[in-house]
Amino acid sequence: MDIFFLGTGAGMPAKLRNVTSIAFKLLEERGAVWLFDAGEATQHQILHTSIKPRRIEKIFITHLHGDHIYGLPGLLSSRSFQGGESEITVYGPKGIKEYLHVSLSVSQTYLKYPLKVTEIDEGVIFEDDQFTVEARLLDHGIPSFGYRIVEKDRPGTLLADKLMEAGVQPGPIFRKIKNGEVVTLEDGRVIDPSKFVGPEQKGRVVAILGDTRYCERSILLAKNADLLIHEATFSKGEEKLAYDYFHSTTHQAADIAKQADCKQLYLTHISSRYDRNAWRELVDEAKEIFPNTDIAEDFKEINIPLK
Ligand SMILES: [Zn+2]
Ligand SMILES: [Zn+2]
Repeated sequence: MDIFFLGTGAGMPAKLRNVTSIAFKLLEERGAVWLFDAGEATQHQILHTSIKPRRIEKIFITHLHGDHIYGLPGLLSSRSFQGGESEITVYGPKGIKEYLHVSLSVSQTYLKYPLKVTEIDEGVIFEDDQFTVEARLLDHGIPSFGYRIVEKDRPGTLLADKLMEAGVQPGPIFRKIKNGEVVTLEDGRVIDPSKFVGPEQKGRVVAILGDTRYCERSILLAKNADLLIHEATFSKGEEKLAYDYFHSTTHQAADIAKQADCKQLYLTHISSRYDRNAWRELVDEAKEIFPNTDIAEDFKEINIPLK
């Protein structure tokens, strides 16, 4: 489970930061990549990485501002030529369906794979036996969603060595023990499965929020998250500017992480008014409130370790 930042700038592409896109790499977990937003030139950014567009399974759009969606039709179109055959589901606010329909039909783009577009409301928008994704509306002038991705707890691994030490030979019986069945051996011994299965693997939680002012719902989305990715378009002291433009400051992002008891915070959606030298200052500001903070950069990858 890794996060790969494809674009981390606010509003317009800049030399050092392209517009927003975040890849959530679930290669070990499900052989897939989920994308969060696809600003202009997201597909160009992907060219510089090991990410395979055919692996993209889901795309979550936070909101319909251009810096978050102008790369979507091109990316979907190119995927057809890059061996993409599996279905993609795009989730996003009302309007995303029309946007994609018009861009693809006017340009006479025919995808070689099924495209599903789901216009979402607040609540659980996706669930399977591995993950739950919940969406909530933030505060950004137009509808902007934050996403909370929860990995489900997994049963512990079978302690095969310990079983063999106890004289149990591998076979279908191993599966039964792993599934928690009490098993009686031929010699009459009874095997208590709880003694031969490791501890349950706790699932990880990641919150990826769209553009927003400081708002309460961000705390709910980020509650106890292993990682919160929050915008910080402005530095501390620019609260008025942030409020007027429906964005957040470094301090506000850090305050959300603190109140939500997150493990780690990454700041993104950084305005181009801050040059490379200023980035450390932005991090230091946030650290005043939430120490485990870092700043996203294009092409930076971070791992979310097992608990
Ligand atoms: Zn934006
Ligand atoms: Zn926006």
